[in-house]
Amino acid sequence: MRLSYSRADAVFYASTKYHEGNNHIDEFNADTCVACIKTYEGLGKTTPCVADCTAEVHRIDVIDDVRRHGMSLENCVHCRTCEYVCPQVNLKVRPTAQGSGPDFMGL
Ligand code: SF4
Ligand code: SF4
Repeated sequence: MRLSYSRADAVFYASTKYHEGNNHIDEFNADTCVACIKTYEGLGKTTPCVADCTAEVHRIDVIDDVRRHGMSLENCVHCRTCEYVCPQVNLKVRPTAQGSGPDFMGL
């Protein structure tokens, strides 16, 4: 039997909860992301962190006509896929703390 879940299902079953203002993924250099987005979009492809995130955390924000990397961290299920697929090694997912993060038992 093949069992698969949509991204929305994955986020639902993860039951994530975070403290206000959580910032558990470090983006080391915003300019690196701008260049990365430009490169991938120039090739007609989706930026890796946006394409491969399990929970649609990563997004492209247009700020002052510049396409920049943004994140909705409250959805994160801590799979660390984004860290591995980032071609510039520009992300670090830090461990959950103080009881925050996904409900691993329910996942
Ligand atoms: S894949 Fe990495 S470098 Fe590219 S936009 Fe995402 S975080 Fe930035
Ligand atoms: S660890 Fe990264 S890829 Fe996984 S859900 Fe969180 S933001 Fe998305």
